[in-house]
Amino acid sequence: MSAMRVLMHLSPEEPTWLCDACGAQLEGEPAGRGLLLFVRGDHVVREEPPLCERCAHAIGMTALQRWEMEEDDG
Ligand SMILES: [Zn+2]
Repeated sequence: MSAMRVLMHLSPEEPTWLCDACGAQLEGEPAGRGLLLFVRGDHVVREEPPLCERCAHAIGMTALQRWEMEEDDG
């Protein structure tokens, strides 16, 4: 359970990354990842951009709302 927390604690230099949504520079493990699917011809390109906790939550809610809206349209 706490293995990741221990690893993060032991690593002297956290890798930095940019939140794909808001561009904030953050350290350590991304709080979440968005899931993007692109249909390119016959195959699907899958991307999982790292997101900060705030954006991961916001995008998750947005995706749910969009899903519900599309459901209503049909
Ligand atoms: Zn963000």
